Amino acid sequence: MKTDVQVAIIGGGIVGASLLYWLSRLGWKDTLLIERRELTSGSTWHAAGNTTYFGPYAQMTRLFAGSIRTYLQAQEDSGQSVGFHQTGSLRVATTPREREQFEQFTAKYKDLGIAYSVVENDEIAALHPCVDTHGLYGAAHTPTDGHVDPSGATNALALAARNNGADVQRHCPVLSIQPDNNGWLLETEKGPVRAQHIVLAASFWTRELLQPLGINTPLYATEHHELITESVAQLESIEHEVPAIRDSYVSCSVRQEGKGFLTGVYETDPVFWALDGIPKDFKEELLPPNTERLMPHLEKLMQRMPVMAEVGVKTINNGPMCWTPDGLPMLGPLPEHPGLWLASGFNVGIGTGGGSAEFLAHWMVNGNPLFDLPVVHADRFGNNVSREAAIESIKSCYRQGYRLPDTIH
Ligand SMILES: Cc1cc2nc3c(=O)[nH]c(=O)nc-3n(C[C@H](O)[C@H](O)[C@H](O)COP(=O)(O)OP(=O)(O)OC[C@H]3O[C@@H](n4cnc5c(N)ncnc54)[C@H](O)[C@@H]3O)c2cc1C
Repeated sequence: MKTDVQVAIIGGGIVGASLLYWLSRLGWKDTLLIERRELTSGSTWHAAGNTTYFGPYAQMTRLFAGSIRTYLQAQEDSGQSVGFHQTGSLRVATTPREREQFEQFTAKYKDLGIAYSVVENDEIAALHPCVDTHGLYGAAHTPTDGHVDPSGATNALALAARNNGADVQRHCPVLSIQPDNNGWLLETEKGPVRAQHIVLAASFWTRELLQPLGINTPLYATEHHELITESVAQLESIEHEVPAIRDSYVSCSVRQEGKGFLTGVYETDPVFWALDGIPKDFKEELLPPNTERLMPHLEKLMQRMPVMAEVGVKTINNGPMCWTPDGLPMLGPLPEHPGLWLASGFNVGIGTGGGSAEFLAHWMVNGNPLFDLPVVHADRFGNNVSREAAIESIKSCYRQGYRLPDTIH
């Protein structure tokens, strides 16, 4: 294991692996990624892998678009499949206001070079045989996004970075972090590591890792459910995969998984996980599912997609998902702690991880972020957000689900 490096990244999920890869592409190869267990052990292994282009801010869309590009590049560099399914996505308009907002996005997507159009209900029906378009006002269609295999993508990124000279150490928990002469000293289970720069890509664990330094990061985990159905007859007869659907009324996303559907639910009253401390022995585990909480959403989903009332449920996964008070990741330096960087707080880390790593790696290597995006800067919350305030803000972000903010940027 390298013990004296330019950069040590803590956390081997999609975000840490993406950053290791991007640093190696930009020429920073004296790097070490340190993972407590296996790569993807946190939230990454059980994610649905959705990588849409649609984001409420045009600039966030650059992070989404950069992610698909990054994963496909890592696939090419490593020879390891990232399992990209280019299904496209439909974001249905459930009110005239939503439709109006989707139309406002058209110019922004054109600027970004991303295929985007607002389609009418008959086109939704043609693209997706299971959606009842009654009461819809069309949809935003992004035909070139889809989903990846999160574990395949993480491993492809790590392999491509290792081929470029980076080191990856698994089963190596970081036990403590301290400032050192010209950088940082990490105590790990495999011995000490010195680094000029450290990057915390440890999701909700970042809060606990930084607490002893007096750094208060408002990162908390909610439970998040996804449900996978048995095969659906309408899908059996179609050769291509249908587009993913996102619906603010139902507060669910639904994409094809095999010949069935996978739906992720944003509950109205989110439940937090491990508020009093992340269990030390937390492994690649799922949390007990709670179907009662999902029912109000599933009932609405059955209105939108009547086939959901007929098909059996194969699996329900409930896993921890990391949140910040405004729902956006924390990316960049903490200026009061030179050499300490954050890449934490991702609730759509598969969708934005690759592009965020590109953004941050440019910042680290060139001294400036790749483009202007202050809404994600790591120091934006200061050091004094109380736990109660963070939880209240996260609750309102989570229950916002797919509803857009009133003003789009
Ligand atoms: C059910 C469900 C479905 C989801 N579906 C999607 C989706 O479709 N699309 C999407 O974009 N997002 C989805 N997400 C969210 C997504 O899983 C996360 O945003 C993403 O995985 C976060 O990646 P990460 O690298 O930031 O964190 P993690 O994957 O959690 O990685 C953090 C890593 O840090 C390691 N670590 C912690 N402490 C230490 C330490 N002391 N020393 C060393 N290593 C340490 C952990 O072991 C872990 O591997 C879903 C989440 C859930 C729960």
